[in-house]
Amino acid sequence: MGKALIIGAGGVASVVAHKCCQVPDVFEEICIASRTLSKCEAIKDKIDGGKTKVSVAQVDADNTQEVIELINSFNPEIVINVALPYQDLTIMDACLATGVHYLDTANYEPPETAKFEYKWQWEYKQKFEEAGLTALLGSGFDPGVTGVFTAYAQKHHFDEINYIDIVDANGGDHGYPFATNFNPEINIREITANGRYWEKGKWVETPPLSEKREYDLDQIGPKNIYLLYHEELESLAVNIKGLKRIRFWMTFSDNYLNHLKVLENVGMTSIEPINYEGKEIIPLQFLKEILPDPASLGPRTKGKTNIGCIIQGTKDGKPKTYYVYNICDHQECYREVGSQAISYTTGVPAMIGAMLIMKGQWKRPGVYNVEEFDPDPFMDALNKYGLPWQENFSPTLID
Ligand code: NDP
Repeated sequence: MGKALIIGAGGVASVVAHKCCQVPDVFEEICIASRTLSKCEAIKDKIDGGKTKVSVAQVDADNTQEVIELINSFNPEIVINVALPYQDLTIMDACLATGVHYLDTANYEPPETAKFEYKWQWEYKQKFEEAGLTALLGSGFDPGVTGVFTAYAQKHHFDEINYIDIVDANGGDHGYPFATNFNPEINIREITANGRYWEKGKWVETPPLSEKREYDLDQIGPKNIYLLYHEELESLAVNIKGLKRIRFWMTFSDNYLNHLKVLENVGMTSIEPINYEGKEIIPLQFLKEILPDPASLGPRTKGKTNIGCIIQGTKDGKPKTYYVYNICDHQECYREVGSQAISYTTGVPAMIGAMLIMKGQWKRPGVYNVEEFDPDPFMDALNKYGLPWQENFSPTLID
């Protein structure tokens, strides 16, 4: 059917590339392009030899002109942006300049302020409409599948959704005293920020990790979950009519939080530049360099993730509750694509989103979040491509 350009060569990009190769009738050709060419070549070495033709390229995606030149030479239908959130706008600009569809898994964040919001990317709506191009934002797991789960619940189970609690649990153990499951810089910026949830039309802020509950998760067991701000809250609060409250919860072990507290207390999570031996460095970026590479956790991680949406609302005038979730096994992911479940649960939905755009099922000019499209083909593809989902019609609710 066509060609896809994958930008980034980290843990998520590797899964996207593996998964595209499993659907060669859609992805006839892929190019993996990133800052460090050797990382692209390492992915190519693992997946080459099948029906999908694989090439690699070096690109600095902070530079729109470089991305434009790469797109013009490879000529893809879509760019799958699985680099870092800082590159979202430069890549969107390059897509507009070259007439190519766009997809990402994380919303834009200016490097100098730890503040992620959709506003910068939503401002591109008119430009993508006028160009006749689709930009699909946040097609990972959360954001991504959580939005598709919500749209599916809205379509098939509710007349009106009033409350959503998204629960992201990782019961995996990699055996290191401290490591993050995806890019450490992005991950730590997210967790050390204030918590925030949306209620009755307003955002309510909470000090970082101050709201805690215990929740018993299928196949994982009871875990402490903490309220965090997460980017899909912003789009779902706009797109789900009748919503009264939406919150996001994530599990962290006491060990993880103790390490994080110490790192924070000594200033290692700061994004303020400091001068070290005549060179300006950012402590959090230095910390990233000494922490284990998330892509290296694959062979070591055992256990499962469980991510889903607990939804309350009404159907036919009666109150209804519904919980839809996916359970993913770290070791099974590693056996299939050589990555742990965090990269897997992000990379599979990115491939699915790109596939639906290329097949025309999710092609609509403009800038969209996943919940704005028909969830059914995405839900079918989740079952088919490694992220089957389960339903519970009487879940325990979170107070
Ligand atoms: P990694 O850090 O493993 O990989 C990022 C890749 O992007 C690296 O290969 C890096 O290159 C490359 N890159 C960074 N800057 C540039 C640049 N200027 N030009 C070209 N390439 C660049 O991250 P992950 O794979 O773990 O995560 C990828 C994305 O997925 C992130 O945006 C993350 O926020 C998002 N994510 C989304 C989730 C979801 O559920 N929606 C969950 C997890 C992650 P180099 O190797 O040279 O540094």
